[in-house]
Amino acid sequence: MSDRECIFCAIIEGHAPAEVVFEDGDTLAFMDINPANPGHTLVIPKRHIQDIYGMDEDTAAAVIGTVVRVAGAIKRALQPEGMNLVQSNERAGGQDVFHFHMHIIPRWYGDGLRLARPPEVRRTMPIKEAAARIRREVAKVRTIAAAYTDICCGKK
Ligand code: AMP
Ligand code: ZN
Repeated sequence: MSDRECIFCAIIEGHAPAEVVFEDGDTLAFMDINPANPGHTLVIPKRHIQDIYGMDEDTAAAVIGTVVRVAGAIKRALQPEGMNLVQSNERAGGQDVFHFHMHIIPRWYGDGLRLARPPEVRRTMPIKEAAARIRREVAKVRTIAAAYTDICCGKK
């Protein structure tokens, strides 16, 4: 499944250029066009999945497998002092390209990178309350597929 409007689908299909560093049957890893730091890489599923809510178990496993593989390669290749994995969903979450992707961002002391833009209005909630709410929901979810069904169908 691909999306005609999607730049990452265009890369997968070879219709847009990309600096690809790894590819297998289900995933593609390529350099971010506007790197936050040297080595900033994106890992995407080849199937057009918009965001985390559309993710299935097998694709998630394939994506994280490629993330692990590429992160190790970046560590060996560039010797960063740290590494961040970042993944954004929906506009309010900072997502700009609506094809699921994981950022692998090498870090160095003093690089000055601030990954999260501060929200305009700060929302607060006691940690215990947030934990209790999440615990209630996570107990209902046996598989990733079930999580997807719950969100997509608006069930409680
Ligand atoms: P996000 O804000 O999490 O949706 O991240 C989108 C990322 O995709 C940004 O870091 C962009 O620099 C990157 N990006 C957008 N278009 C391309 C492209 N054609 N090739 C490589 N990276 C891209
Ligand atoms: Zn796409």
